[in-house]
Amino acid sequence: MEDKICEDCVYWDPNAAVHNDCGVCNRYPPQIATIDHEGMGRGFRPMTKSLESCGEFKKAKASNATATGY
Ligand code: SF4
Repeated sequence: MEDKICEDCVYWDPNAAVHNDCGVCNRYPPQIATIDHEGMGRGFRPMTKSLESCGEFKKAKASNATATGY
């Protein structure tokens, strides 16, 4: 059975990573995670590791594997 992991998901962007083996999930719009001192929200998308998964997985046409080294 095929693993349904982030690095093979159409929504995963390894190029937005700031750490090895991590990428950004673009499945949903940015979510308000913090409110700064001026009352303005800051939006973030979740960062996940390449081997993580979730129920929203959708197979990408081409693997992201070369970008992450896996
Ligand atoms: S968290 Fe889910 S939707 Fe986002 S990249 Fe990983 S498997 Fe895909």
